[in-house]
Parts: sequence; C-alpha cells; structure tokens
Amino acid sequence: MVEPILTIVVPCYNEEDVLSETVNQLNEVLNNLIEEKLIAGQSKILFVDDGSKDKTWSIIYKESLKNNRVHGLKLARNVGHQNALLAGLVAGKTSSDCVVSIDADLQDDVNVIREFILKFKEGFDIVYGVRGKRDTDHVLKRTTAEAFYTMMQKLDVNLIYNHADYRLMSKRAIGELEKFEEVNLFLRGIVPLIGFPSTSVYYDRKERFAGETKYPLKKMLSFAFEGITSFSVTPIRFVLLVGFLSFFTSLLFGSYFITLKFIGETETGWTSLITSIWLIGGLQLIAIGLIGEYIGKIYKESKRRPKYIVDIDTYNLTQQLTERD
Ligand code: UDP
Ligand code: MG
Repeated sequence: MVEPILTIVVPCYNEEDVLSETVNQLNEVLNNLIEEKLIAGQSKILFVDDGSKDKTWSIIYKESLKNNRVHGLKLARNVGHQNALLAGLVAGKTSSDCVVSIDADLQDDVNVIREFILKFKEGFDIVYGVRGKRDTDHVLKRTTAEAFYTMMQKLDVNLIYNHADYRLMSKRAIGELEKFEEVNLFLRGIVPLIGFPSTSVYYDRKERFAGETKYPLKKMLSFAFEGITSFSVTPIRFVLLVGFLSFFTSLLFGSYFITLKFIGETETGWTSLITSIWLIGGLQLIAIGLIGEYIGKIYKESKRRPKYIVDIDTYNLTQQLTERD
C-alpha cells in the first residue's frame, strides 16, 4: 500500500501562548510518522486561524515560511470552533487521504495520531479519540461534560461518550460530511451519522499547555444547548407531555370543586386560584420559549448563510501571501 497523505487540522482562536509549542510537537509527530513510512512525505499541518485578535496569525505565517509542512488558513472573522474546524477539514481534504483534527492547546495526546493512522490503514474511515481519564479537567468541566454526554444518550442522540473533536476522517468521509448543510454545526453529532466503518482509540486528556480555555461556562452551556436542540426533538415532546398532564390535572381539580359545590361545601379563598394561574402561566412560557428555540433554528437554517469565509489560504495557494497583523 502506498503511504497515505495526512493533514493535521488545528483550529486556533487567540492561541499565541501555546502555538509555537503546538507547531513543534505536531511537526515532530509528523516527521516520525514519515520516517516510519506510515504516512507520505507530502503530509502537512494546517492551522486555521478563527479570526484571532492576538498574534496567532503572524505566528502561523512565520512558521509556514520556516517549514514547508506548515500551512495556514485565515478566516475573515471568528466563526467558532465547529465552523473553523469544518473549514480546515474541507481545505485539508483537497490534497490528502485523511485528516486528523486536534485542538491547539495540546490537551489531547499527540502521540495517539500514530494509532489513528494504523486504524486508518486497517480500513477505518473514522477514528474517534476518546478521553479515558479526565482527571486534569476542572471538576466543574468534568461534571458538566459527563452530565451532557449522559443526557445526550438519554435523548437518543448517537454520540461517542467522552469524544470531543479529536478524530481522524478519511477523504471520502469528509466528502459526505460536506453534504450536511446545517448551519447549526455540531460535528460530534453529525460524524456518527455518516455511518462509514469507524472505531475508537483511548487516551488520557492533559491540562492545557498554556493560555486559557476558549470555552468559559456560559459558552459551554450554550454549546450543550445547541447540541441538544440541533439533534433532538425530545425536549419539545416533553413540554407537550407536561402540557397534557397539567391539563388533565386541572380537569380533575375542576370537577372536584364543582362536586364540592353541589354538596354545599364551597372551597373558599383565592390561593388555589393564584397558584394554578402561576403554574399554567409558567408552563406556557416554558413551552413557548422552547418552541421559539426550534423556530429560531429553522430561521437560521433557512438563510443558508456561508458558515465561514476564508481570507488567506497558504494551503491551496489561492492567494498571494502578505504578512498582516
Ligand atoms: N477555538 C476556535 N474558535 C473559537 C473558540 C475556540 O477555533 O471561537 C479553538 C481553540 O483555539 C482550541 C479549540 O477550539 O484549539 C478548543 O478550544 P478550548 O481548548 O479553549 O476548549 P476546551 O478544551 O476548554 O473545551
Ligand atoms: Mg482545550
């Protein structure tokens, strides 16, 4: 078998503190794999700058001048981790047989890439990196992440437990991924839907090498909410169920009070009245809010806006390079 060409895609948002080290480590991995004849010499690393406000792009640019295996894709503005990743996968696919996506912060063990390649050579189109231990993650992050994965499983969303976006995808798998036209991108949910032969590789997650997480609690919660509402209509069904329940309960109470009146024992006071008004009002607001969430999604999807816009691409050399920032 001829060695496959690999591209490692790294989405970066304000990662100036860690980037040089990331380049070094990934470059070493790439060189070793090429030396071992596991991958072809044309293999590359592609950094996607997701509209960073710091020196991220100039670091990528300088590294690409020093090392012809390092390339950069500069997005015109910040479009978020998922869209930036997609931009990298789509660009990477054009000149490679498989693409590995990894975060810039070196939390995911770069040595696992070797195992990804071995699995790819066995014939798997998708190889998921699964976090075995998460001791190094903050307690809050760990518990919220675990709650998230459990909930997604309960909602019947096909997710790989404890897998984030560290994975290998073959060229043809990315080709299929491109056919998913949704704007609310949640790759962890979409990739398993492709259905090509897939397997998992386990590793331990480390601490961020440098810099801060780009997913503070607020962003994390909104990401989880996106994931749920993009992949499951169970919450909306649940609201319907609660609606029915409260409707029948109120019928029951209603008939009870009417019966009391006929017996001559009228229930006095307005407490019960107010309570039920608040209860029903609250339920209605929740229901409307949730329906609004889904309608909002339809609204966004219907616009079919581009998910990202490429500014500079050193990978496919479509543009003359100029150093900026
Ligand atoms: N990232 C990005 N765009 C964003 C936010 C994050 O490209 O708007 C990148 C970030 O640079 C990193 C990866 O996505 O490479 C994951 O982010 P981070 O490590 O901060 O998330 P965590 O590991 O804390 O969940
Ligand atoms: Mg991280």
